[in-house]
Amino acid sequence: MKQAGTPPTGKWTGPSHAGVKAPDPILLPDPARRFMATAQRLEQLADGHPLDAWLRFLAAVARAQHAVAAIRAPSAAPGAQAVAQAVEARLPPLAADGHQRDKGWHEGLGLLLARMDRGVLPDAAMDAIKQLQAMDAVAVDKLADRFLRGGLAASEIGMAVYVAAALQVYFTCAAAQLQAAELRLLDERALCPCCGSPSVSGLITASGVTPGTRYLYCSLCSTAWNHVRAVCITCGGTRELLLQSIDGDDGVVKAETCCECHTYAKLLYQLKDTQVDPYADDLASLGLDMLVSEEGYARHAPNPLLLVGDGEAMVD
Ligand SMILES: [Zn+2]
Ligand SMILES: [Zn+2]
Repeated sequence: MKQAGTPPTGKWTGPSHAGVKAPDPILLPDPARRFMATAQRLEQLADGHPLDAWLRFLAAVARAQHAVAAIRAPSAAPGAQAVAQAVEARLPPLAADGHQRDKGWHEGLGLLLARMDRGVLPDAAMDAIKQLQAMDAVAVDKLADRFLRGGLAASEIGMAVYVAAALQVYFTCAAAQLQAAELRLLDERALCPCCGSPSVSGLITASGVTPGTRYLYCSLCSTAWNHVRAVCITCGGTRELLLQSIDGDDGVVKAETCCECHTYAKLLYQLKDTQVDPYADDLASLGLDMLVSEEGYARHAPNPLLLVGDGEAMVD
């Protein structure tokens, strides 16, 4: 048997098992599809859902996001050299908390507010739009910073939903300009390799090159990245993971709970429903969040459209 070591040619070409492919580590978003897919799925899930009105409101937000993503020229993606430097330093090149936002994001927010379908808006949501439209750019930027870095007051949550939505469009358009091959997964595997944000949910693929792969979907820039299965995304534990779901449901969404760190993350099974959307299905399965939180598990990270300030969620 040949001893392991440097191959004779000095050039290692990697394993070549015929038919076995490694999953793509990073999938960059497509801004032309990302928000419309979420809007359509939310509308589909709203039918007969106990949170029907809330899901339709979020669908209207996603439709406004789609309009902004389609119209606005993407901007402020870092250049190739800055990306290379960040990747070399194991940092996300579009770091949500450090990235200098292009002023154009204000234009995107204005457009998003103008595009909101007034027909589905409750009074409080309409008031928040008026309040935001009356704010100057400096105050809006401070609000955006508080959303990205923490420190939102409960009274700001109504407005912060639109700010979060506009920032999702901005960061998604910026991430789409990067090259997946030039990025690298972070050492902290639960965080987005583009912007360093946590995921909203993990999708278990049914098709593609490597079915059965888990991809985590970024809560801010919509990038997806591979994360091994059966490993807690928060603590890396493997020993005490349980998959929980609501009795009698269709098996599309499950919560992976970890008894080592007492957190959970959601898994969505594409095999059970090919229409599954990492953003819409997370929001529509709020009942599962409630179930596992009653058992004492904390969600690994909040969904940015389901903001919490001083212990109060935005759901009526
Ligand atoms: Zn991201
Ligand atoms: Zn854990």
